[in-house]
Amino acid sequence: MSETGWAIIVHGGAKDIPPGLEDAHRRGCLLALAAGQAILEAGGAAIAAVEMAVRALEEDPTFNAGHGAVLNAAGEVECDAAIMDGATLAVGGVAAVKTLRHPISVAAALLSRTPVLLVGAGAEAFAGAHGGELCDPADLIVARPGDPGCDTVGCVALDRHGNIAAGTSTGGLTGCHSGRVGDSPLPGCGLYADNVVGGVSLSGDGESLIRTTLAARLMHSLEAMPPGAAIQAALTYLARVGGEAGLIVIDTEGRVDWGHNSAQFAVAHARAGQPARAFVNRAQDAQEDYP
Ligand code: ASP
Repeated sequence: MSETGWAIIVHGGAKDIPPGLEDAHRRGCLLALAAGQAILEAGGAAIAAVEMAVRALEEDPTFNAGHGAVLNAAGEVECDAAIMDGATLAVGGVAAVKTLRHPISVAAALLSRTPVLLVGAGAEAFAGAHGGELCDPADLIVARPGDPGCDTVGCVALDRHGNIAAGTSTGGLTGCHSGRVGDSPLPGCGLYADNVVGGVSLSGDGESLIRTTLAARLMHSLEAMPPGAAIQAALTYLARVGGEAGLIVIDTEGRVDWGHNSAQFAVAHARAGQPARAFVNRAQDAQEDYP
C-alpha cells in the first residue's frame, strides 16, 4: 500500500472543566498526543498509537480514566475501555473492571482473540493471564476538589499506511449504579473504526450515546459528508434523547475534526505537516489560522 499522511486526535472528555484546570487538560492531551504522534511519525501502526496515547491519558489523574477514575454509588472505581482496528474491524473491550492500571491495554490484548468484550472479574482474570498490569483499586483513586470528573478519554489515529484505529477509556459517571456500563466499551456507541470510512471516539452521557448508537450514526454520516457536517448531524440526532456529547473524527483523507454540545471538550490534534494544538472549546479551534 502506498504511504499516506498521518493524523491523530485525542480527547479528555465532554464536560464542564472547573476554572483553573483548563491548562492541565490541554497539557495532558498534548502529552498523550505526543506519545501517539511519535509512533505515527516513525511509520508505526495507528492501533499502537491509539493504545499509547490512551495509556498516557489513563496515567494522568486530570482525567477520569485509569488513575483518576471517579467513584460509583458504592464508592468503588469501575472502568470501561475499548479499542478498534479499522484495518481488520477487530475490537477488544473491558467493562466494570476495578483492578486494571491500564484498561486500554487489556482491551488491546483482546483484539486478536474471541470474545470481544470481557466484564468484571473475568476481564481481570484475563488481564492476569496475559500480562495486564493489576493494581490495588485504591491506587487509582485521587482527590478531585471541585471537579466532579465525569468524562472519558479517547483517541483516533490514521497511520502512514492508511490504517485507522480508535480507542476509549473511562471511569464512567460519578455516583453511577454499581455494575453500570456506559457507551465507552461498546463499538457503535462510544467508538468505531473502519479503514474505508474513518474513525470516531465519543464522550458524554453514556445512556444517550447507547440509545442513539451515536458512533455508528456518525460513521454512516461520514460515508456521505465531511467530518464537520457528520458531527453536526450526530449532535442534532442526539437532541432526540437529550444529553451531552463530544466527538472526535478522522476520515480516510486524514481530515481531523471534533465537536461537542458540552460546555467544554479538551482536545489535542496534529497531522503530518501541521503542528500539535490543544483546545478546550471547538469555537476557539475555529479561530485558529490553519496553514
Ligand atoms: N461516556 C461515559 C460514560 O457514560 C462518560 C463520559 O464520557 O462522560 O460512561
